[in-house]
Amino acid sequence: MNEKKTIAIIGAGIVGVSAAVWLQRDGHDVLLIDKAGPAEGTSHGNGGVLASCSIVPVTVPGLLAKAPKMLLSRSQPLYMKWGYLPKLIPWLTRYLSHANPADVERIASALTPIIGDSLNDHKALAEGTGAEKWIVPSDYLYLYRDRAHFEDDAFGWDIRRKHGFNWEELEGPAFHAYDPIYSEEIGFAAKLADHGHITDPGRYVKDLAAHVEANGGRILRANVDDVVEENGKVTGVRAGGETLACDTAIVTAGVWSGPLAKRLGISVPLESERGYHLELIAPSAMPRSPVMVASGKFVATPMDGRIRLAGIVEFGGLDAPPSRAPFELMRKNARLAFPGMTWKEEVEWMGHRPATTDSIPVIGAAPRIQGAFMGFGHHHIGLTGGPKTGRLLAQMIAGRTPNTDMSAYSPERFATR
Ligand SMILES: Cc1cc2nc3c(=O)[nH]c(=O)nc-3n(C[C@H](O)[C@H](O)[C@H](O)COP(=O)(O)OP(=O)(O)OC[C@H]3O[C@@H](n4cnc5c(N)ncnc54)[C@H](O)[C@@H]3O)c2cc1C
Repeated sequence: MNEKKTIAIIGAGIVGVSAAVWLQRDGHDVLLIDKAGPAEGTSHGNGGVLASCSIVPVTVPGLLAKAPKMLLSRSQPLYMKWGYLPKLIPWLTRYLSHANPADVERIASALTPIIGDSLNDHKALAEGTGAEKWIVPSDYLYLYRDRAHFEDDAFGWDIRRKHGFNWEELEGPAFHAYDPIYSEEIGFAAKLADHGHITDPGRYVKDLAAHVEANGGRILRANVDDVVEENGKVTGVRAGGETLACDTAIVTAGVWSGPLAKRLGISVPLESERGYHLELIAPSAMPRSPVMVASGKFVATPMDGRIRLAGIVEFGGLDAPPSRAPFELMRKNARLAFPGMTWKEEVEWMGHRPATTDSIPVIGAAPRIQGAFMGFGHHHIGLTGGPKTGRLLAQMIAGRTPNTDMSAYSPERFATR
């Protein structure tokens, strides 16, 4: 290792905790600070899929034409809190400007190195931590009504093929032989091998954080409101009226990262893509693998004693309470996908995907302030890409050059000074 540093990591979701594990392995002193405690943000409630093939962003060509109709229908997984629209417009305009083939290709090329080998990235992260038990290698299937429905998504599948993803196509009886749990209305599946899922994302991240603490890292529950710099160098972070000394600070605060990044001269257009989960506790049957049900755009993941359905995109900011309609839609879609299934209880949850306008996370050093780093903005794929992001940050902090071109993720693309 090079010089031993004291590193404050602001935000203990999957990204911050992954960075902490890798930095500790490099021999640094790690201080993990979270306003709510490890894995209490988005990393608690996600769909748990290690979705390596999810390199195609939401902003695909044609989105602009489809979105208004989707927003007006209560049976489509896109919602808007209309009172929030005026605040959203500047972000939305930039976001939608990327819904063209060239930008989608650029985004897919940027995401592939971060998420393309996620299962192995998670295994490497968790090795020897006690958190390995939550990682399950599995297939990942996209489910369609029929081949024609699958072919409607040809644009995305062509991009996946181009980036090296292969799949098996299961039609009719072949799909139902693979997993008889599903409705006959689902007649086609694209099955990708070498994916995986986490059987309790929140407990997984908490176990990783506990490992960091057991190895001498400090975990603090506090709200960080500033990063202190002197003569162009980080010297501490401000939390609860106190300054905590450090020589390196990393902003990994998910959707809440904007104000801290701004203090470091990086003004990221960051919004919440609010998402929902509905858990079916003690179900009468379990799916064999995680799936993405294309008609409802939700994932169904077999978890510890329950199926977690996760999906929906709702724009409405950070403060508004959850809406009811997304839960009703997920419940309806669950009954359609799993006919005859019963379950004992339900758990409902809403959380915030950290969404940059260009659908590419911000990973790297803040220019002009020595010791300031950031890693956030992972949209729908933060669980998948968190371990790689944490490892890349640890390499950059140690002054090692990662074997990945980091320019696409550079905070500098949003620099204000
Ligand atoms: C419904 C839904 C389903 C999803 N499904 C998947 C999936 O299947 N696979 C996948 O890969 N991804 C999925 N995602 C996305 C994924 O969950 C996120 O991208 C990921 O959790 C982001 O992790 P993070 O560490 O950046 O942020 P978070 O997990 O939100 O962590 C940020 C932490 O920072 C803390 N914090 C914020 N501000 C401060 C501050 N000022 N001081 C101190 N602490 C602070 C918060 O308390 C929080 O714990 C899904 C998301 C949703 C909403």
